[in-house]
Amino acid sequence: MTENNTDFLYSRKNNDISTTITVKNITFGGSNIVVIAGPCAVEDEKTTMEIAGKVKALGATVLRGGAYKPRTSPYSFQGLHEGGIEILARVGKAFDMPTISEITAISQIDSFKDVDILQVGARNMQNFDLLCALGKTTKPILLKRGFANTIHELLLSAEYILKAGNPNVILCERGIRTFEPYTRSTLDISAVPILKKLSHLPVVIDPSHSSGVYWLVKPLSLAAVAAGADGLLLEVHTSPELSTCDGDQALSTSSFGELMDALHPVANAVGRSLHI
Ligand code: PEP
Ligand code: MN
Repeated sequence: MTENNTDFLYSRKNNDISTTITVKNITFGGSNIVVIAGPCAVEDEKTTMEIAGKVKALGATVLRGGAYKPRTSPYSFQGLHEGGIEILARVGKAFDMPTISEITAISQIDSFKDVDILQVGARNMQNFDLLCALGKTTKPILLKRGFANTIHELLLSAEYILKAGNPNVILCERGIRTFEPYTRSTLDISAVPILKKLSHLPVVIDPSHSSGVYWLVKPLSLAAVAAGADGLLLEVHTSPELSTCDGDQALSTSSFGELMDALHPVANAVGRSLHI
């Protein structure tokens, strides 16, 4: 495989063959839309349990929660680290939900053994050593696009994981930095059909980090599913105003319920259904 070869491992070779990735009983890239929901960060066990119970009851099937938080300021809450991973794994088990959490260093890999999907965040999309190390694991990897990276660069980062031997890569568009200051980032909705055209890998949209404000999460989620996304990654909190991080963009559980109600007909309109 050379730099100029268009036949990469990520490349779509056949319009009819898309990769599906199954985690426990949840499949990414099939006919069902997967809704991943949970807090930005795992804060404590009680709050995580409450959030998980609510989002599961409303139709989320995968539980998110960060334990290693790559924050812009070193004075912001950095996550509970290994303790947060342990809480997330216990809560996921209690609610029979697969879990996803962000990994930021190779040295953490062993401590993520009870997490079902490893997230590579926007800031680590081109941490090639990490990508290669994750490529040697068998866990599904949700790879986020960096906020200053092109679609092509995202795909080449996916290639690092695939080339190292792990075929289970889920691509995630989470917004890019543009000259528009109103939103935290600009959701590149065109990335969905472009990634689908170029690659056979599942595509998930994160409308929470792309918008930075809770009230934009619903319209962006509907747009993402209408555009062909295979899943959504949503920040939800029982008390967004008390959230230790990203409270402005967190959906309350009632807003999450409204979003799920609105999502069903949109999913059906594009020949999909929600994974329930
Ligand atoms: C997150 O999902 O919690 C996160 C930090 O996302 P991003 O890497 O997209 O900023
Ligand atoms: Mn967040």
